Amino acid sequence: MQTSFTLAQLADPQVAESEKILRACVHCGFCTATCPTYVLLGDELDSPRGRIYLIKDMLEHARPATAEVVKHIDRCLSCLACMTTCPSGVHYMHLVDHARAHIERTYARPLPDRAMRAVLARVLPYPARFRVALALARLARPLVGRMFSVQQRSPAAPADRPRPPPRQGFAALMRRIAAVLALTPDRPPAAGSPAAGVFPAQGARRGRVALLSGCAQQVLAPAINAAAIRLLTRHGVEVVLPKDEGCCGGLAHHMGREHAALAQARRNIDAWIREVAGGGLDAILVTTSGCGVTLKDYGFMFRTDPAYADKAARVSALAKDVSEYIEELDPTFVAPPPATLVAYHSACSLQHGQKIVRGPKRLLEQAGFSVKDVPEGHLCCGSAGTYNMLQPEIAGALRDRKVANIEKLAPDVIAAGNIGCMVQIGQATNIPIVHMVELLDWATGGPPPHALKITSKRVMSSQSLEAVS
Ligand code: SF4
Ligand code: SF4
Repeated sequence: MQTSFTLAQLADPQVAESEKILRACVHCGFCTATCPTYVLLGDELDSPRGRIYLIKDMLEHARPATAEVVKHIDRCLSCLACMTTCPSGVHYMHLVDHARAHIERTYARPLPDRAMRAVLARVLPYPARFRVALALARLARPLVGRMFSVQQRSPAAPADRPRPPPRQGFAALMRRIAAVLALTPDRPPAAGSPAAGVFPAQGARRGRVALLSGCAQQVLAPAINAAAIRLLTRHGVEVVLPKDEGCCGGLAHHMGREHAALAQARRNIDAWIREVAGGGLDAILVTTSGCGVTLKDYGFMFRTDPAYADKAARVSALAKDVSEYIEELDPTFVAPPPATLVAYHSACSLQHGQKIVRGPKRLLEQAGFSVKDVPEGHLCCGSAGTYNMLQPEIAGALRDRKVANIEKLAPDVIAAGNIGCMVQIGQATNIPIVHMVELLDWATGGPPPHALKITSKRVMSSQSLEAVS
């Protein structure tokens, strides 16, 4: 694609990077076929190619973002299916990240939109605030639910029919609040999240890793990291949860809030580099694949920051999805699980963002599970960080389509590698959904996942659960 940036514009490293990306696009349109928003809405401006044109026009003319541009960029899930499909290697992720930061700097959003985003940015990345917000949401849900029909799935809206685009204003805000409440779990998790500290390896030590505690996952599903710690220590790996780390910055980053995102990332980089210099680290492991994409991008995010460029690149080089590291460990599966059909939901942030496609499924099969891929597995479930709260109509249509595809398989359990997908899919189906590391922990001698225990009557006999627990 031809571009016409001035030399003065290209002196800005962010513009220079975006120009390089734009020039790689040959506007072939292959990406449109796998873009969830284009598949649903059928509008070229809601396709990767359409968004690339909008971004090019906005950046080339150094214009403030318009309402039209914001509408179509906001509808992008950042699922990165377009990057998997693109034959020209267009790095859409860095381009849309730049566009979002430009929007945040130059566009005055309507007040309800601003308010909603500010609340999400100030609550979700902070576990203590998020816990309080969830408790309040549980109290508010019956009231708002009656007013705005908070429900699992709308029977009047077939999975593949796009719903009307959201309107701005109070009604749109209330729909978004209803969407947030619908995502709230009915009760807090049974156990708390693993505390910061060192979890020693059992037997001879084979490695030492940091495990990202993160933010929302430790509140919603602390059992995931507990399972990862059990599995890793059982296989001779010492696990560190550094006390000063927190949200990876991904939530703020995807809302264009660069300052907040970089501040959160710096705090983590400092915490991990201290560990590298202290006890040493073989890897920094992530059980939330959305955060994994962000960690692996720290090197790029800080490339022009002399104080952090090297440290950030080091952290990115150490970052691994937990499934990548478990594969390297070649785990010992001690007890075959009972015949269990697993629908493996491949999160976009794993398959498109980190190009991790076969490993998780291979591990589950080695563990003795029967595993099936979900039809239309390349399409996002609609979770996408804060997307399901900011774009509930499109997110709901994608969720219903995903759940319909999963239910066609009639699985006993759904396995995923990202808490966002687990919450999004879990609100629309009665099939238990777990993190894949919980299944692997179970198959290597750990307890059965809690979600399977509470549905054990329907899924499998409690005797067979006990046999492997
Ligand atoms: S597939 Fe790649 S090159 Fe083709 S239009 Fe999409 S982004 Fe551009
Ligand atoms: S990131 Fe996903 S939603 Fe956004 S343009 Fe690419 S394929 Fe479409």
